Order: sequence, then structure tokens, then C-alpha cells
Amino acid sequence: MTSINDINFKGKKVLIRVDFNVPLDKNKQITDDSRIVESLPTIKKLIADGGKVIMMAHFGRPKQGGFEEDYSLKPIVGYVEKMLGKKVAFTQKLLFDNEVLDMINSLQDGDVMLLENIRFYPQETKGDVDFAEKIAALGDCYINDAFAASHRNHVSTCTLAHFFPNHRYFGYLMEHEVTNLQRLMRNAGRPFTSVIGGAKISSKINILESLIDKSDNILIGGGMVFTFLKAQQKTIGSSLCEDDCIEEAKRIMEKAKAKNVSLLLPVDVVIADRFANDANRKTVSADDIPSDWMGMDIGEKTSALYQDVIMKSQTILWNGPMGVFEMDNFATGTKNVALAVADATDKGAFSTIGGGDSVAAIHLFNLGERVSYVSTGGGAMLEYIEQGTLPGIDAILK
Ligand code: AMP
Repeated sequence: MTSINDINFKGKKVLIRVDFNVPLDKNKQITDDSRIVESLPTIKKLIADGGKVIMMAHFGRPKQGGFEEDYSLKPIVGYVEKMLGKKVAFTQKLLFDNEVLDMINSLQDGDVMLLENIRFYPQETKGDVDFAEKIAALGDCYINDAFAASHRNHVSTCTLAHFFPNHRYFGYLMEHEVTNLQRLMRNAGRPFTSVIGGAKISSKINILESLIDKSDNILIGGGMVFTFLKAQQKTIGSSLCEDDCIEEAKRIMEKAKAKNVSLLLPVDVVIADRFANDANRKTVSADDIPSDWMGMDIGEKTSALYQDVIMKSQTILWNGPMGVFEMDNFATGTKNVALAVADATDKGAFSTIGGGDSVAAIHLFNLGERVSYVSTGGGAMLEYIEQGTLPGIDAILK
């Protein structure tokens, strides 16, 4: 595998897939720039070499029937320019319009341009080969640095790579993600503890299944707890529950037991009489939730139990908050787990955090520097763990 470190891109037209799919507030201001920041080292290397940098990115989920102002990458351009200290050529015109082609042709060595949202084209998500061939004709080589989009079998993440059999590379961000995830999956020290939270069990069933094969301990938190508790015939009041997943929850608990994996559920929970930060709240045993009250966070005893398991682990994977951490009064469990992950890392454990909300949580508590590795991918990271690779990774390697 050739690293971009071994290549000088001077004079080359480099098609690079980046992930600029950052969250914006209602004034179109970026609220979390980490994906842009993580892309910078590769872009800067290409500029320093004197490459002609043609960036492709997506933004949100447009209908794919052409241009839509709400999903334009325009609000991102100024920010990327500021971060690079350099002009980024951009037009809202669609690919293959003469204006775009003229822009590409007039790129000088070290210049950068950004193509408009690649998902404005229905061919992108279909992996359309003819479309890929037309884009490939615009460049001399291809780099994928969009880990968070690499679980998609799309033109810009996969199909394009096939047109550059000898000139396709991972960018630094991809290299970093793949190296760390390979370490997590192939050379993990034991005990291996997975901490899985978040709202719904339905979105995490596959990952829970595959983590049973890899972990020694699985600690469950978040809204999905209550589907598990209901599967154990416990009363859960008005807590979040997915009734159609109860059988799955039972099966997961049975599989864990059969494989000797310790799957832990909260022993106590913080409950509220409304879904609001200023609701009345109290901590009760996990089998004693009154009707009309809902579980909002793991309780203190559970935090202590989970902290103890985490502190004894050599490898920790964390995805999904332990409670409704966006509300101060229900953020304690998530914070306790985050602190334990940071403390275990100080003691020598290898810790990986992925998934939008757990990453947001670790930054909220200012612990980002105290974990081994924060992945830029949520869905992509989970799929890598399930499959051991991703379509966008295979497209470069195979
Ligand atoms: P996910 O995107 O599936 O990782 O879920 C993250 C969301 O789960 C966050 O917005 C949390 O507020 C939410 N969440 C965590 N615990 C609970 C709970 N007990 N009840 C309802 N929502 C929760």
C-alpha cells in the first residue's frame, strides 16, 4: 500500500473525496468543525507539493434531483478557506457545466477547488460507472480521505477508485482511522470492554451481535436499556422502549450468556416525570420504575459498576451516551463513563470512541485528549467493526 507520503503530487490533478458534512446551526454557522479540521493535513500536503486539488464532498441528504440551496456546500467554503489560509475555488454550477470545467482547467499548481455537493447527482449513490468515468477523466489520481462516508458504495467513495488502479491512495485521515481500527480489531488487549448506549436498540442490533464475538464485557446504557429490561419482564414505566425488538434483546442476552460474555444492564436508573431537564427526578432500582416515570440516565451504583469494569480493561470501545446527556441533570452517567474511559487510558488501556453523540459527549467534558482515538465515523466505524472492512477501504486496497 503506497502512502501519499511517498508521492509528490506536483502538477497532478488530484480528485480527493473529503467529508465536510458538518453540522450547521440555523444561521448556517458550523457548530462542530472536527471533520474539516481532520481533513486539513492531507489537503495541505497536496497544496505544498503543488498539486491541483479538486475536492469532492457531500452535504446532508438532498433529494438527488439536482441543485438544492439548503444542501449547497457554499456555507462551508469560507470556513475551509480560513482554515487553509487560501482561496478555494467554488461554484454552485453542477459538474460538467462549462464554468466548472473552465475552473478545473485554470487550476494552477497548489490551487484548490471544491465541487458542489456530489449528492446532487442521482448517479452518485447508485455507484454509476459512466458517471464515475466522466469524473475520473477530470483528474490524474484519486484519494479517499472521507472515512465517515466510506461505508457507502457510492461513486465518490468507491467506483472512482477503479479508474485509477495505480494512482489511488488513502489520505492521512483514512490511514489513521484504518490503523487504529485494525489495532482495535486485530491486536486488542484483554479484557475488551464495549460500552454501547444511545437511543434505540434497533439501530445497534447488528453491532451488539458482532461485539459479542469480540468483547469480554458489554456495558449497556441509554434508551435501549429499557427494551432489555422489559425483555426481562421488568416494569419500565413510560421509558423509551421498542416493543418489536424485545425478542432480539432476549436473543442478544442469550447469545452473550452462551459465549460467556458479561453483558451488564443498569442496576439503578435516574428517572423523571417528564422528558425535560427541570422535570422531577429520582434514582430508583432498575426493577422499580413507577408507571408514568421514565428512565433518563444510569444511576450512581451502575456508574460505579461500569467504572470498575472499564478500569480493569485493556481495550475499550465506546459508542452512544448512557443517558439524555444533552440535559445537564441527566448527563452524569455519560460523564462518569467518559471519565472512566479517560482514567483507564491514562493507565495504559487503548480506547476508541466513535459515533456522533459519544464524540460530542467526550468533547463536552473536555476529555478528547485523554482517550487513545476518536473516530470521525459513526456508522462507518460500527460497520468496520462488524465487517472488518468498508467498501471505500476495499476500493483502494483491492
Ligand atoms: P444514538 O444516536 O442512537 O446514539 O442516540 C443518542 C441519543 O440517545 C441522544 O440524543 C440521547 O439523548 C438519547 N438517549 C440516551 N438515553 C436516553 C433515554 N434514557 N431516553 C431517551 N433518549 C435517550
